[in-house]
Amino acid sequence: MNELGLTPQDVRAARALIQWSQAELAKVADVSVSTIADFEKGLRTPIPNNLIAIRRAFESAGVQFTPAGPTIFSELSLHIMTQAGVTEMRFRYALDGAAAVQQIIATFGSAEGDGVELEPVQTASPTLKAAIDALIQQHGSAVPPLNKLKKIISSLGDNEYFLLLPEYPATTVEKLRLERYLHSLNHPEDQSADERIDDLFGLLLERYNISSPRTDQRTLIGAERDPRTCRFCGRTAAGGATFKKAAHVIPTALGNDHLKSAEECDECNGYFGCETEPSLIAMLDLQRVFLGTQGRGKNDGRPKLRFGEDILLHDGERVNIQSKSVIKDASDTFVVNLGRGAPLTPSSVYRALVKMVVSVVDEEELPHLKETIEWVRHGTHSERPLPKVASSVIPLPLNPSAQITIYTRRHSHPHLPHIVGEFRLGCYIYVFAVPFSDQDQWDLVGFFDEASFQETFKHYFQAAKWMQQDLSRQDKVVMSPRLKFVRRSS
Ligand SMILES: [Zn+2]
Repeated sequence: MNELGLTPQDVRAARALIQWSQAELAKVADVSVSTIADFEKGLRTPIPNNLIAIRRAFESAGVQFTPAGPTIFSELSLHIMTQAGVTEMRFRYALDGAAAVQQIIATFGSAEGDGVELEPVQTASPTLKAAIDALIQQHGSAVPPLNKLKKIISSLGDNEYFLLLPEYPATTVEKLRLERYLHSLNHPEDQSADERIDDLFGLLLERYNISSPRTDQRTLIGAERDPRTCRFCGRTAAGGATFKKAAHVIPTALGNDHLKSAEECDECNGYFGCETEPSLIAMLDLQRVFLGTQGRGKNDGRPKLRFGEDILLHDGERVNIQSKSVIKDASDTFVVNLGRGAPLTPSSVYRALVKMVVSVVDEEELPHLKETIEWVRHGTHSERPLPKVASSVIPLPLNPSAQITIYTRRHSHPHLPHIVGEFRLGCYIYVFAVPFSDQDQWDLVGFFDEASFQETFKHYFQAAKWMQQDLSRQDKVVMSPRLKFVRRSS
């Protein structure tokens, strides 16, 4: 036993609870794998700093060490959708705080015994506002998110409707549908809302299946498939593949640790980690900094990036820019010319995007994607043209989570891609066609500008402006971004 009360058994048990390998723990705690291995074997107790780091790593993943051994903190996440937007509220509590949280939930639903039924449609009634005031009096200091809750509810008109969602709307389509629904509750006189929903999504739902794996809880793709088979090289354990490492569907640097695949072997995982994912991460460097996307490792997992001599980092609260080339012009505009960023290969960015789709797409689509998978895994078909990747910024709260949505065509169509992927990082959205499917009879170049695409994916064209990027280059490029800051007038 050491002064921190952490035993080798605790560490093993805690890892088992959250399915971390020694390597994963080492990465999060920023200590060496041998430090952990030796500790667990009882060979060597880590220095206090490392013990603290190990404990913190577990705590950041929700594990609490109690005299009875490690347990998982419970976390309740509620998403409140008002006409102004969606706000996430996270109530994290150890077992002794469960009663308070139970009481909070009961304010929004009916408690029966241990279980609570949440009512998704809520009204900001005077009774509810008073109940929240009472909760704050009792638990406000112990449960800080309550104050945020009060702020939102008190900003609503009396008896204004709002929605309580257990998770962030998984797809853009779902979000829009919920928004329309909320609108119809608050404006029952506006009969046109229902028609607008049909108008907006009618064709899309007729032509595509939409799916989006959950990224807000531990999700393992392909856990039930037997024998375990790698989607990218087709090998099983009998064929020599190993499946020891955790295969993240979305690179952890992009802020999602929950979504993993059982169908990606260690060798393919290693290949993507070296060859394609670094390019995607580099392309999203600025977005990651401004969102404060939390991955793993130093600086609390937040990006700290070098652009030549300049440094751009998110410290958990705000963005810091350290640069010698800040120019302020007369109109209160600052321009920062950053140095050279991390190199990236555009075609690898595209392959990394499609790799995420291949990881989670319905298994029965895989036989149609043989050439796609070869391209993703080996960079083949270099001579074939690639469609452009469309990107935009959509008005969403600055939720730094990453999300993938897959649109799979239901029936054949000469001008619509078989599979369309959408990758969202906070408010940044990327829409791309999955190339080389045997269900497409053309090269998909220009798909985004096709009339049939625009009439089907109408929701993308409602408000947002789109840029289209050609990601077919196969040599490395280096960007030196230029940032422009304009003082807000109000
Ligand atoms: Zn493989």
